[in-house]
Amino acid sequence: MKQSKQCPKCGSHDIRCFVNDGFLDSSTKGIAVGATIFSNVSVERYICCGCGYTEQWVSPGDIQKLKQSSKAKPVNQ
Ligand SMILES: [Zn+2]
Repeated sequence: MKQSKQCPKCGSHDIRCFVNDGFLDSSTKGIAVGATIFSNVSVERYICCGCGYTEQWVSPGDIQKLKQSSKAKPVNQ
């Protein structure tokens, strides 16, 4: 939805974006990858107002910070 501006599930173009709006881990400033909030990674959440489908994106520039975090658990390794 970030790139296409269209929902892949229902086709709606009514998409809204929230940045660092809070997550299940109680972080309100993105994903906590380090010891302080200053190392947090920003997250954009896209929500389709047609069906409720959501997707989340991290800036490509922050992916290396995620990979280096001891809090990140690799999947498929
Ligand atoms: Zn939708």
